[in-house]
Amino acid sequence: MTRVHNFSSGPAVLPESVLRQAAEEMLDWHGSGMSVMEMSHRGPQFMTILDEAQSLFRELLGVPDDYRTLFLQGGAIGEMAIVPMNLLGSKTSIDFVNTGTWSSKAMSEASRYARINEVASSATTKFDHIPAFETWKLDPDAAYVHICSNETIGGVEYHWTPDSGDVPLVADVSSNILSAPLDVTKFGLLYGGAQKNVGPAGLTLVVVRNDLLGHALPITPCAFDFAQQSDNGSMLNTPPTYAIYIAGLVFRWLKEQGGLVAIEAQNRRKAAMLYDTIDASGGFYVNPVALPDRSRMNVPFRLPDARLDAPFLAEAEALGMVQLKGHRSVGGMRASIYNAMPVAGVQCLVDHMKDFARRHG
Ligand code: PMP
Repeated sequence: MTRVHNFSSGPAVLPESVLRQAAEEMLDWHGSGMSVMEMSHRGPQFMTILDEAQSLFRELLGVPDDYRTLFLQGGAIGEMAIVPMNLLGSKTSIDFVNTGTWSSKAMSEASRYARINEVASSATTKFDHIPAFETWKLDPDAAYVHICSNETIGGVEYHWTPDSGDVPLVADVSSNILSAPLDVTKFGLLYGGAQKNVGPAGLTLVVVRNDLLGHALPITPCAFDFAQQSDNGSMLNTPPTYAIYIAGLVFRWLKEQGGLVAIEAQNRRKAAMLYDTIDASGGFYVNPVALPDRSRMNVPFRLPDARLDAPFLAEAEALGMVQLKGHRSVGGMRASIYNAMPVAGVQCLVDHMKDFARRHG
């Protein structure tokens, strides 16, 4: 069996030890005589799995008692509509900071339910930075302020948390959740799909402050009403049981790694290996993002001539590295280096980049 170095932006690499454990437990979970996939979601066995996953998630992220954590379905794009339905209440507008593809998508989804106020944008410079907080034209009457904490396609990441005052701050954390410690108290709500840093696709994570519950618009489907889901322990409908089980194993793995402080140190190291290689290439590789806003999760870079992309990718694949092609809207390459990407994978990529530049530079 050969495992590749998988640089996919998501669904993405998972810790090998987690996959091995899941394989061992596939036919018979802990003597139950069945797979987790075959269990009743209300049975005692799955309840153990859910409870452990919930408590590890809260522990890792340091979620305070006055916040609920929900394990839902619908993905981040679903949440872009579900969040306004839940948080709008009697307000009529939402503030958005536009830093790229995913903030733009959030704006267009929310525009069906509310007036959209783009309070800052980096569109004119092709989304190459996070607009300085001083330039944000925040509306004190907005239902909430929405940011995307890491733009998976553009490779732009917040390394600071905005202070939105009394207006709740909402963040799409799909592609950097659990990659570093986060002060949850600065946010009203966090949401993200699991398939990058947490586990399989199908599980959606929501962290919401209690006082924001209970204001859902009447059109809100019950499966997406945060208050109803919270009252029912995320079991108002059948939750994505297998994805929750794998996420729980990933949380355990993350704790064994030393939690978010330790994983952040490793993520910084991996990102520095790549950015150092790009910056030391004499312009052969280019990353367009402003230095303070470069993502530690998704590293886009271009080669000097798009005709070199195909040989770069083919050689990478021959060396066991896959999914390095950049998003079609950006071109070039993108290396996604989530928590589960080992340093050895990044080292392999850096070696290839240096070797390729030497031969084609
Ligand atoms: N937001 C961000 C930041 C993402 O990276 C993605 C997936 N690439 C999405 C939203 C959309 O997620 P989903 O397809 O799970 O709805």
